[in-house]
Amino acid sequence: MDLSLSKRTTRGQSEGRLKHYQILELKEFERGTDEAVAIKSVLGEPLAALGDKDVAQLPLVIVGYDHRKIERLLIEQREGFTALRPIAVVGLEGSKLSANIMQLADIVLPPHPREDDLSSTAATLATLAAHIERLPRSPRDTALTMLQFMYTRGRDIESGVDAQSPIAYGFPLAEGLLHCDVLETQSVLQDLSARGLLDARHVDRLFTCPSCRGYQVPVKELCPECKSTHLGVEESIHHFRCGHVGPESDFNVDGAKQCPKCFSAIRHIGVEYNRPGRFSICRQCNFWAADPDLAAWCSNCDQYHSPADLVPVNINTYVIAQSGVNVARNGRWGPVPVLAGDSEDDLDLSSNGEDLDKDYSKALALKVVELAQQDGRAMTIYKANLLHDKDISAQSLQDLLTQTRDVLREVLRESDVVVNTSDAEFLILLPASDSEVLPSPNKIKDYVYLRAGLKVEIITVSGAKPLGRAACK
Ligand SMILES: [Zn+2]
Ligand SMILES: [Zn+2]
Ligand SMILES: [Zn+2]
Repeated sequence: MDLSLSKRTTRGQSEGRLKHYQILELKEFERGTDEAVAIKSVLGEPLAALGDKDVAQLPLVIVGYDHRKIERLLIEQREGFTALRPIAVVGLEGSKLSANIMQLADIVLPPHPREDDLSSTAATLATLAAHIERLPRSPRDTALTMLQFMYTRGRDIESGVDAQSPIAYGFPLAEGLLHCDVLETQSVLQDLSARGLLDARHVDRLFTCPSCRGYQVPVKELCPECKSTHLGVEESIHHFRCGHVGPESDFNVDGAKQCPKCFSAIRHIGVEYNRPGRFSICRQCNFWAADPDLAAWCSNCDQYHSPADLVPVNINTYVIAQSGVNVARNGRWGPVPVLAGDSEDDLDLSSNGEDLDKDYSKALALKVVELAQQDGRAMTIYKANLLHDKDISAQSLQDLLTQTRDVLREVLRESDVVVNTSDAEFLILLPASDSEVLPSPNKIKDYVYLRAGLKVEIITVSGAKPLGRAACK
C-alpha cells in the first residue's frame, strides 16, 4: 500500500492521470460484457463523442473476447490518423495472442483484469498520450509515422515466419503502419536502414525464385541425360580386376554376383571389389550418375532455375537508430535548424534540411515506380513544371512550390503521390485500377490555375498500362 501511494505522489500530473479515453466494446451474443463497468470504475468515464479531439493522442480501450475481430480493429486503427494512438485491449488471454495483436496493441489484459493492472494501464496510456502530444506529426507520411511509433513505444520491427508471405516472413507491425504488402514493406525497411535511420539485425537468409521472387523453390535431382525426375538410388560396385564401375543391380546374375563387363564371378569385398558410393539411376533412360543435376523448381511459377541463380533475401529485425530517433522527434526527414540557445537535441548539421527532404522524396518516388514495375501494376506518372519568373528569390520560389504542392494535393486522390523532384518540377504518381478514372493533365492544370493563379505545364511520362514486364503469376 505504501509503495503504490508513493508512486502516485511522485508521478507528474499529466503523466499518471488519464485525461480522456475512448472505449470500444465488442458485443458478445448481442450483449455487452461486464468488463466495461470494471474498466470505467478505474479509468473514469470515457468520452461519448470525439468532438475535435486529436485521435492520435486519444487512448483507446478495446473490450472483447473475439481474437479475429480485435485483430481487424487493431489493423484498422494502425493506419492513417489513428496510427499512433495508445491502445489497450481487455479480454484476451496472453497465451493465445497472434503476432498481429501482440505487435499492434500497446497493452493486452486478460478477461476480468485486476484493479492494479487497470491502474497501471491507465498510467501507461496517459504517459504514451503525453509523449505523442509533444511530437510534430504527419500521418500521411507512413514511414515517418512508423519511426514515431517505434520511438514512442521503444519497439522494434520484428519479422515472423509466415507461410503466406512470398519471402516466408512477414512484418506485421510495419506492414500495418506502412499500409504496404510485405515486399514493399521489406523494401522500405531496407531503404531506411541504408540511410542509417534503422539498424538491421540478422534473423535469416533465404533464397527466392528469380522470376517471381517467391520462396517456394524446392531443389530437384534431374537425370543429366534426359532431365527426368524419375530417379532411384542404388549402391555401386567397382570391380578391381577390369576396373568396371556400375550399379549393384547390373552385377546380380541369378542370385550370384558377376561382373557385367568381364563376366568373372566376384565374391570378396575389399579383395575383388568395393562400393565407391551411391549412384542415381534414371528409371526413364537407365542412365546412371554419381552426381545428378540439381535444379531449383518454383512451385509458384513452375519454372526451373539453376540453384546459383536464386536470389538471396536477408530477413532482419529492425531497431530504430539515433538518426531515426531524431527524425521521429522532429517529425521531419531533414534536421531542423538549431536556434541560438536550443541545445537540447544533438542534430546532424552536415547537410541542408530542405535538400535532404527532397533527396529522400525523390528516392522514395523512384522506389514506388520501381516496385510498381516489378509487380506489373498499373501506374500513371505525370511530370508537372511550375512556370515562374526567372529572377524570383529563393524564398519566394520555395513558397510557390509549397503552395503548388498543396493545391495539387487537393485535386488528386488520397492514394496519389506528389513529389518535388527538382527546382520547380514535380512528379505525380497515380496508381490506377481499371474502374478508376484518373484526373487528366488538363483538368489538373486548370484546377491549379483557377484555384491559385499558378501556371503549370503537365506532361504524361508513363501511361496507365502496367509498367515493365508482367509479374510471372
Ligand atoms: Zn517463381
Ligand atoms: Zn534419363
Ligand atoms: Zn570385371
